[in-house]
Amino acid sequence: MIVMKFGGSSVADASRLRHVSDIVKTQLEKKPAVVLSAMGDTTDHLLEAADLALKEGKVDVKGVEKLHQETVKALKLTAVQKDIAALLDELSRLLSGIALIRELTPRTKDYLVSFGERLSVRIAAAFFESIGMNAKAFDAFDLGFLSDSNYTQAELLKESWDIIPGKILPLIKGNVVPIVTGFIAKDSGGSITTLGRGGSDLSATMIAAACKADEVQVWKDVDGILTADPRIVKNTKPVGHVTYAEAAELAYFGAQVLHPRAMQPCMKTGTPVLVKNSYNINAPGTRIESVIAKNSPVVRAITSKHKVTLVDIVSTRMLGQFGFLAEVFSIFAKNSISIDMVATSEVSVSITLDAAYDLAEVKKELGKIASVEVKTGKAIVSIIGNVKRSSEILARAFRTCQLIGVPVQMISQGASKVNISFIVNDTEAAETVNALHIDFFDAQKMDQD
Ligand code: ASP
Ligand code: MG
Repeated sequence: MIVMKFGGSSVADASRLRHVSDIVKTQLEKKPAVVLSAMGDTTDHLLEAADLALKEGKVDVKGVEKLHQETVKALKLTAVQKDIAALLDELSRLLSGIALIRELTPRTKDYLVSFGERLSVRIAAAFFESIGMNAKAFDAFDLGFLSDSNYTQAELLKESWDIIPGKILPLIKGNVVPIVTGFIAKDSGGSITTLGRGGSDLSATMIAAACKADEVQVWKDVDGILTADPRIVKNTKPVGHVTYAEAAELAYFGAQVLHPRAMQPCMKTGTPVLVKNSYNINAPGTRIESVIAKNSPVVRAITSKHKVTLVDIVSTRMLGQFGFLAEVFSIFAKNSISIDMVATSEVSVSITLDAAYDLAEVKKELGKIASVEVKTGKAIVSIIGNVKRSSEILARAFRTCQLIGVPVQMISQGASKVNISFIVNDTEAAETVNALHIDFFDAQKMDQD
């Protein structure tokens, strides 16, 4: 068995759905379960409609209605027309409710965005059936996707690991191709929840891991995970192989190819994840697994995170006093501020955080035990790769920074042993990433792993 997941742009309209059916058809003998996102930008459009209902008391989902009705028409799916009309009707009644009471709780928001995936799987399954596949649409919550009640960011419950295979494996054995909603689940009270934006990746990896599938294919609109952000670097290349830990790191540091939590289920079971391009099916894509293939490049990718603030904290107490770091971190924790990078010495600690935080309160409290300097306008540049070779990577990276005259202001080697990160001025970040990319990927190669 395999799991095939198609994102919004892969199922954006009738012609994209035809293309998806071609991809699925070629792999029927591998017994696929298919996970789908909402069509195109439907999730965004639903959120916009909710906003309009909430703020202006207006109901307008014409765009969402039109896309789904036209797709049904273009694919000549008369049998499913009634189901789609019923869902669209329920959706507009829900929006009228929001417009009337002018209230949108996180629970209602999840109920509202769930329509995107519920519509897309019904249309796709009806189409796949019409061309001779034994496909059937399912809402993930009917196949064991149980979550907590942390609406908009729900976590799946442990029970899901047993219930999902109990529901899906008999379907696969019976030669059914289940077409399952990504992104959504239900809590113990029976309310619909969502797993966070982009959460369909996690739905797919969860099914694959829980059912012990041979692999999960995540079909996107890019050639896999890239060596850098293509908006910053022109000459990026797809990365052939990365480990789960590296992929998770990449998801966090700006390469928004996969949902950050999507690696977790497959990491547990060692299920390989393949990232493929539905617009370019012959591209090899990126393979994510526990052990990296021999002969992979030592550096897999370079990323950057912008709008970062650096805080230098120097203890005003005597050397050797204990508890200083604990106190510093507890002040950040108390103010709900999440820290990205840390570097320490005996009497000082430098940390980085997102520039969006208001630091007034933290500065006041830290000021009682330390002198504090806040430096804004920074960026984190991260080199993801085999940190066992860190001396070589650092030597090359620093030489490059020196050559382009960019001072490195703080460095940290992640405990996950997959990244080396350092701080530069945000204005110099793009130049730094480009120079590093040329050195690590275009210039003379480092010896392979
Ligand atoms: N449709 C949801 C979103 O756009 C989930 C997903 O696509 O993975 O975030
Ligand atoms: Mg989407």
